[in-house]
Amino acid sequence: MKPQLIAIDGPVAVGKSSVGSLLARRLGYVFFDTGMMYRAFTWKVLESGISIEDEQRLCQLANTTKFDFVPLQGCYLSPLIDDEDISSKLFRPEVEEHVSLTSKIAGVRQTLILEQRRLAQRGKVVMAGRDIGTVVLPWAELKIFFTASTEERARRRYKELLERGENSSLGIVLADLKKRDEMDIHRTISPLKPAEDAIIIDTEKFSLEQVVDKIYTLAVNL
Ligand code: C5P
Repeated sequence: MKPQLIAIDGPVAVGKSSVGSLLARRLGYVFFDTGMMYRAFTWKVLESGISIEDEQRLCQLANTTKFDFVPLQGCYLSPLIDDEDISSKLFRPEVEEHVSLTSKIAGVRQTLILEQRRLAQRGKVVMAGRDIGTVVLPWAELKIFFTASTEERARRRYKELLERGENSSLGIVLADLKKRDEMDIHRTISPLKPAEDAIIIDTEKFSLEQVVDKIYTLAVNL
């Protein structure tokens, strides 16, 4: 029996999306990167003009926002926010800068986690994030946690940003990545950490295909 839910967690630009989407395609599952949801909500916050420090209003905003998931590219689900596809805005510098601030608010997380669990109820989902194995889906049958050096991850994210047409520099990307990791690891709610039963994979030691192969083999032999 293949697992219905596969959780992949790890820090910024560690390969969760690249591996997760290929793995989902191979298994005939859908892939959802919860980071996109936090980014989409952050975009909405910035558009709304509400101060990032006004936690109460941000929680209210999360509660009144309509979240949906649509397959825009094959098995890769993108978040829709109030029926709008804002995927082209999710990697803008202002979103990068504020996303770890909105995502550390307990009430915001509560709303987004409920939506993520609603999606998981469909089954056959590979879900990526920071807290999928620990908080969102602790009952997932297979939990993976990725690691890789900060420098390698910065190089990957820089390349990805260039491909997306975003203007940046390796130095800025590295600084931003360290800042976000720091916030994600040290926040009190849902900090980035492996679940006790997660399998740790250093993605720097293997090719993309090798990592996909490894998890696929684990999944079909559960
Ligand atoms: O994965 P990505 O870098 O796109 O995630 C953007 C941000 O969203 C992270 O730095 C983190 O602050 C937040 N996030 C989170 N929990 C998740 C996924 C992402 O807090 N499950």
